[in-house]
Amino acid sequence: MTTTSSTAAPSVGTGPAVLPGTPVVPGVAYGPVIRPSGAVRLPEDDGTVVPEEARAGEKQRFVAAADVVADRLGRRAAGATGVSAEVLATTAGLARDRGLLSAVEQRIDGGTLAAVATVQAAQQFVDLFTGLGGLMAERVTDVRDVRDRIVAELTGQGEPGVPSPVVPSVLLADDLAPADTAGLDPARVTGLATRLGGTTSHTAIIARQLGLPCVVAVHGLDDVPSGATVLLDGDRGTVTVDPDPEDARARVTAARLAAESLAGYRGPGRTRDGVVVKVLANVQDGAGARAAAAAHAEGVGLLRTELAFLGRAEEPSVDEQARGYAEVFAAFEGRRVVLRTLDAGSDKPLAFATPPDEANPALGVRGLRIARRDPGLLERQLDAVAEAARLTGSQPWVMAPMVATVGEAADFARQVRDRGLVPGVMIEVPSAALLADRLLRHVDFLSIGTNDLSQYALAADRLSADLADLTDPWQPALLALVQLTAAAGERAGKPVGVCGEAAADPLLACVLVGLGITSLSCATSSVAGVGARLAGVDLAACRAAAEAALATDDPQAARAAARTALAAG
Ligand code: PEP
Ligand code: MG
Repeated sequence: MTTTSSTAAPSVGTGPAVLPGTPVVPGVAYGPVIRPSGAVRLPEDDGTVVPEEARAGEKQRFVAAADVVADRLGRRAAGATGVSAEVLATTAGLARDRGLLSAVEQRIDGGTLAAVATVQAAQQFVDLFTGLGGLMAERVTDVRDVRDRIVAELTGQGEPGVPSPVVPSVLLADDLAPADTAGLDPARVTGLATRLGGTTSHTAIIARQLGLPCVVAVHGLDDVPSGATVLLDGDRGTVTVDPDPEDARARVTAARLAAESLAGYRGPGRTRDGVVVKVLANVQDGAGARAAAAAHAEGVGLLRTELAFLGRAEEPSVDEQARGYAEVFAAFEGRRVVLRTLDAGSDKPLAFATPPDEANPALGVRGLRIARRDPGLLERQLDAVAEAARLTGSQPWVMAPMVATVGEAADFARQVRDRGLVPGVMIEVPSAALLADRLLRHVDFLSIGTNDLSQYALAADRLSADLADLTDPWQPALLALVQLTAAAGERAGKPVGVCGEAAADPLLACVLVGLGITSLSCATSSVAGVGARLAGVDLAACRAAAEAALATDDPQAARAAARTALAAG
């Protein structure tokens, strides 16, 4: 991953327009443009009364449309994993909801057209759920989604959401919900560019998990005409409109060959002079873990447990959680798996854990803080982890997100040790980096979440495209916090890893190792690139690169300095 943030204007001149953005997932895609379909037009009640003899047929039309919608979503859920499977299955279930069916049928019995009855019945549920508030209010989005899908089916409008193209295409969008991104089929959608979003947004993270070439914060994306063909370059961070087809195909071939040369990586992670640096994967469920093992990740450095439950209204049972975690542990039998307790809140709200209507959710009750409101949530999750460990005979490491104080680390460590598990904490808040020595008196390892650490150190929203230069992981201030934390680990003789997106950038990975980091955890699609790069450098060169990057004043200079130092080594 190259993470240069570009603020240049789109190029002008006689050649094809080159739109600059921020590269997120390397790789090159070339193909026709597709966009998420626009909003579904909802019919108004114009007073039409369905004659009595046609009402049974109108009801059948509704049932058939709802069936098509439920089947389609159900099929997609069956072919998906993790969060996308959850979200798709929930929406499919709603299309078959008996309450919705009877509310629609009642209206059709009164003479209302099926499409209008669908809109009215859905509104009845929206009002009801909104009035109930709390967890139920979270269902409103699902109800509206199902309403739109059924109305689109009844009125012959295209399916809302991301279309499934027949020929491999490049998806251009303002932004995508994480579940939309997770539902993409990389065989049909070969690249993704968004007008909004940053390198650490969860859309970017999921694109990385899918290995889908991706550029975010692209200037001028709105002006790309439909029917255009684009070349998306996830290394350079550009979208070229209607490029020369021969050039474009040559770029795609070159990128494929480069990717294939990485396919030779088999692990384990080592520098050229044999220094051990574990190259681990960030995953969200058993399927992801098996894919990571197949891609020669040495273990899991970050199991994002919350991602499996994003679409859920109710807390999953201890049994269900234990089964899910056990799948991940089993994929890496005898090897390292670091599970993170629920990081609910901010851009990953969980209906059953996150307080609604926080004025400032990124600074609110998220991560470990959810246990302040509901200690049982953490206790039950740790029980589930212990049960999964027992079932699989594994020794997972367990870490808490968003730890800010020594007291929080101590309390978490006690609860984890009480269950025979290995405790650690994430370093995502500057206060934790500053007190890393003291945190390490209580826990056995640290893992730096550079996505949030840069957000909180630079006071810049990680989702903001306008501020992507501030949350760039090459910011020297962020590197200084990494150095501080790694040095504390060295003094305590305890491991300090990086599991934020910084670890997915092969060049930055060398710098992190030079700063004293002992393991790197990144999306599965980045494991080979990072491992192969480390295998080509010595520790001394990594240290020189780290020192050079730390001495600069901005990310561009840091990249250039590190590149020069590594080339010299
Ligand atoms: C991070 O903040 O760097 C991290 C790994 O956690 P997440 O991206 O899930 O917030
Ligand atoms: Mg984080």
